[in-house]
Amino acid sequence: MVRLRARLARSQSTLGKGLLDLLSRDRLDDDTWDEIEETLITADVGVAPTQAMVEELRTKVKVLGSRTPTEVRELLKEQLLTQIGVDTDRTLHVKPHGERPAVVLVVGVNGTGKTTTTGKLARSLIGDGNKVVLGAADTFRAAAADQLQTWGDRVGAEVVRGPEAGDPASVAFDAVAKGVEDKVDVVIVDTAGRLHTKTGLMDELGKVKRVIEKKATVDEVLLVLDATTGQNGMRQARVFAEVVDVTGIALTKLDGTAKGGIIISVQRELGVPVKLVGLGEGPDDLAPFDPEVFVDALLG
Ligand code: GDP
Repeated sequence: MVRLRARLARSQSTLGKGLLDLLSRDRLDDDTWDEIEETLITADVGVAPTQAMVEELRTKVKVLGSRTPTEVRELLKEQLLTQIGVDTDRTLHVKPHGERPAVVLVVGVNGTGKTTTTGKLARSLIGDGNKVVLGAADTFRAAAADQLQTWGDRVGAEVVRGPEAGDPASVAFDAVAKGVEDKVDVVIVDTAGRLHTKTGLMDELGKVKRVIEKKATVDEVLLVLDATTGQNGMRQARVFAEVVDVTGIALTKLDGTAKGGIIISVQRELGVPVKLVGLGEGPDDLAPFDPEVFVDALLG
């Protein structure tokens, strides 16, 4: 996995710089506070967390009186960390259970980066000495299984696939069965992200989960969310969070957005911690999410 700090430093996530400038002004009048609020909302922090942060900042700034740039930075850092949740458990549940592999289900809207994240995660787990099987349960897109196969070949993971337009649950079952048979450590199942109807999605993911549970337990349900789609992407993600028990978020394409604040709103909206961040298209462009490193990078 990449070093989060180095990569973020090169990304466009510059939420903090504008804020630092604003907060460093001699006089913080109402207009400046409005600008601060606007900056946070533009960075996809979300309205409610923005209001909470601005209120806290106003109080703290008042208490401080005059402020040095270092003090301003610390104030902002503290606020951002509070909103992100510095003590939140972000452990990725990928430990096998004796003879049985851990199972990770990857869900989310098509195009968000599910297959890429599946490949990158496999790469990282294999790098840590795990044996990994991938399940191509996105049987609706013709190219999806091929794309996963390419990732499997690239990172050294076997890929279990089914017939085109076949039953996703059956592929998921086969992948987990293969994982049990071969005594692998982790099975990662890439699912279809068709947002047809809510009940359709619920039935489909529910069935995938149920059949997997005949062989193993689903340890992690990773919801993949594209950071560049902002509030719109969040609405779609919410549907997934409503139909399946999501345990973690993989926020992708953070390298392509200046809206790093989405980390805050996404956790608040979905009630699930961001566990992984995608920072590019390459096999090593995935990092565990570390709030301290992230905020430091944001503040430059
Ligand atoms: P899926 O339909 O959800 O499986 O999405 P894909 O895995 O096919 O990804 C869609 C596109 O997003 C591909 O072109 C990926 O290379 C790209 N992508 C995925 N993750 C990232 C990321 O973290 N950063 C960037 N820049 N591109 C990404």
